[in-house]
Amino acid sequence: MSGPDPLHDYLSILQGKARPRFQELKGGPTSELSLKVAQAERLEAGCALCEHRCGANRREGRPGRCGVLRTKVASHFIHYGEERPLVPSYTVFLAGCNLRCVFCQNWDISTDAEAGEVIEPGVLARMIEARGIAPIGAPACRGIRNVNWVGGDPIPHLPYVLRVLQELELDVPQVWNSNMYMTREALEVLAGTMDVYLTDLKFGNDRCARELCGAPRYWEVVTRNHLQAARQGEVVVRHLMLPGHLECCTLPVLEWLGEHLPQAAVNVMDQYRPEHRARQMPAMARGVSPAEHRVALERAGELGLLLI
Ligand code: SF4
Repeated sequence: MSGPDPLHDYLSILQGKARPRFQELKGGPTSELSLKVAQAERLEAGCALCEHRCGANRREGRPGRCGVLRTKVASHFIHYGEERPLVPSYTVFLAGCNLRCVFCQNWDISTDAEAGEVIEPGVLARMIEARGIAPIGAPACRGIRNVNWVGGDPIPHLPYVLRVLQELELDVPQVWNSNMYMTREALEVLAGTMDVYLTDLKFGNDRCARELCGAPRYWEVVTRNHLQAARQGEVVVRHLMLPGHLECCTLPVLEWLGEHLPQAAVNVMDQYRPEHRARQMPAMARGVSPAEHRVALERAGELGLLLI
């Protein structure tokens, strides 16, 4: 890493001062982590992991709206494309997603819950351990700085993620990289296991959310979960700007962050490109203009947000 980076200072866990949270929950079959696995499996049995609350008994082979049954790992590798202080990140892409964003850039794995292979939790844990920790200040080519659970989305895979943590012996920080459209109960189960919540705050109102990703009560659910995540760990918010959604989505998101999570680090991203079903939607078929991005950055600056 070259030069100072505000996100590095912000994420205390990356400075090696604290032990990753999940390791504190271990200790025998009645450990808190084992209880969390059991709680997550109960949520999966009448699925209430995300706010669609399908109620499907996935443990008996009945898929819900997301189609996820047994976790399939689409890919897992050392990723250098995340925010700079998070790199190198051992990123695990899990197949399937609870949302159906028309513009999804990972639609090949998010819309197909079978797009991957079954990897037993202990096997994945050994592969992560084999990479080792990148010492603070060492060249980024040696080891990893965190494990990054993403997809699709990790929400439908919560029981699997916790089972990997049960097996994992390496003291490596954990990153929950998610759309955060999860239930209060699922987020509670996650408490104490994740060090960083790398979130997507996509829409600034329910109408856009319903139209573009099919999620009812989006704003209430996702803002509630951001506040809770900030109590459970460190939060880095990503907001992918959408073309023509400056007034309805971007500015309300920034205003809300300024008022409710002024301590959060925020990445206001302008790299939207029409993918997946957005190609067929004229209003979504262009990129975000430099003027739209400039207005967003100026407002974020006025609000005093930590921009990364
Ligand atoms: S995670 Fe999937 S099965 Fe569970 S409630 Fe959400 S959409 Fe339904």
